[in-house]
Amino acid sequence: MRIGCPKEIKTREYRVGLTPQAAREAVARGHAVMVEAGAGAGAGFPDDAYQAAGCEIADGPERVFAEAELIVKVKEPQAEERKRLSAGQVLFTYLHLAPDPAQTRDLLESGVTAIAYETVTDDAGRLPLLAPMSEVAGRLAPQMGAWALQKANGGRGVLMGGVPGVGPAEVVVLGGGVVGTNAARVAAGMGAEVTVLDLSIDRLRYLDDVYRDLFRTRYASQTASAELIRRADMIVGAVLIPGAAAPRLISRADLAELRPGAVLVDVAIDQGGCFETSRPTTHDDPVYEVDGIVHYCVANMPGAVPRTSTIALGNATLRHVLAIADKGWAEACRDDPNLLAGLNTHAGKLTNYAVGRALGIDV
Ligand code: NAD
Repeated sequence: MRIGCPKEIKTREYRVGLTPQAAREAVARGHAVMVEAGAGAGAGFPDDAYQAAGCEIADGPERVFAEAELIVKVKEPQAEERKRLSAGQVLFTYLHLAPDPAQTRDLLESGVTAIAYETVTDDAGRLPLLAPMSEVAGRLAPQMGAWALQKANGGRGVLMGGVPGVGPAEVVVLGGGVVGTNAARVAAGMGAEVTVLDLSIDRLRYLDDVYRDLFRTRYASQTASAELIRRADMIVGAVLIPGAAAPRLISRADLAELRPGAVLVDVAIDQGGCFETSRPTTHDDPVYEVDGIVHYCVANMPGAVPRTSTIALGNATLRHVLAIADKGWAEACRDDPNLLAGLNTHAGKLTNYAVGRALGIDV
């Protein structure tokens, strides 16, 4: 199959759909891979690494979109990319169609077969192509929070690990899922005293079994949350209610109860944020202050580390890329219901119930 990998054009997107290593595996199986010049540069993969892997380098996006039977990307296609898509082509990327009627309309009009990373499942019903980005965001959260805790960046001037004779920072993680667990592990690794709160007893049980030497767990009752956040130096918001906006766990009035200069890292900002005073920020200007409390609310945290993020995403997508290329999308989806769950559009029809419900379109 002819596989195409264009350069991402969304503002400040430095990740790339295929690493040279992934491309090499596809080439070894007899597929032709065309990569747009400069596509991997932002993630530290130069064109000659793709050439060495057996790829053809195309000067611009035109040939990649015109000739590829399978297009592998990272972000949802932008308006000018959507004009280049056609029926019979397979697009494999993050789409997030539910809040995006314009993109959905264009994909349906193009007739493209679009398989969305974010709705591909695994046998346990989890979302394995979202998990790597949650892992990245989770591990980055204490790193960014520690930076924000420095006085010059607006914070309390507290060192995560303390020093002999001076206690460490107190970190509270709200939500002990993929983001929360990774955040807690890294914060504990930096020497902070960490408590994870969750509403799921099963999840707390698992965290306690595996990580009790690293951090504590508490049930996320209002009383426990209120007591812990009052003495926290850093609070990481990592809750998710699937398919819903993030619950508001700290109100503006609550800020007066926090330690002055405490840092709120709202990883759940991409679902609206779990603090009332959160608003999305960018890597260029990541923090702001409300009532003496520092807020870090970057909506695409993995974009800060595009190399790690690209490799992590590529590890998760590769087997599906190879299955689609080897068998064609229809047989690959017939053989693997988890990949079928990723199918969002085909030949002008919407094929995902949740997206259809959100957009009021019959599926
Ligand atoms: P997850 O489903 O693995 O974990 C969410 C956890 O929150 C679950 O364990 C759930 O029981 C718990 N929870 C739900 N409501 C709660 C409450 N009121 N109090 C305490 N715990 C509660 O989800 P995840 O993959 O860890 O993602 C967490 C959030 O991070 C999501 O909103 C996701 O979209 C976001 N995210 C953001 C970025 C970014 O760049 N900002 C990157 C990746 C993920």
